[in-house]
Amino acid sequence: MCPRCAAAIQVYHHVCRREGSVWWSESIRCDRCGMMQEADSDAGDPAARAAILAANGRWVLAVTDLGRVPIRVLRVIRDELGYRPAEARARLERLASGIRTELEVLLAKLVEEGATGECRRVE
Ligand SMILES: [Zn+2]
Repeated sequence: MCPRCAAAIQVYHHVCRREGSVWWSESIRCDRCGMMQEADSDAGDPAARAAILAANGRWVLAVTDLGRVPIRVLRVIRDELGYRPAEARARLERLASGIRTELEVLLAKLVEEGATGECRRVE
């Protein structure tokens, strides 16, 4: 609802990469009175996540190569996702799934440690 004139409004959710992390923002625009408002946050709420998934689909992160020093990549996977090395190795093809931007941020961290991988849309 518009805070100025109480008309029904559309809320737009955005997610992007900023300085190596995931950044969320929300904007509203009222067609009746023209009010516009934007808010940034570093955490997405469930409504924002659902909206982004609906708009951009669900993606998976696949690691195709652990690089020259696998333990460095496996350590990041453990820190970020909580998988022990054996678990991580067993699921490299589908390491994580969700919002593309979040997976790209994670992939960038793995690539920094020598891994090769990709984000693929699954639905
Ligand atoms: Zn309004």
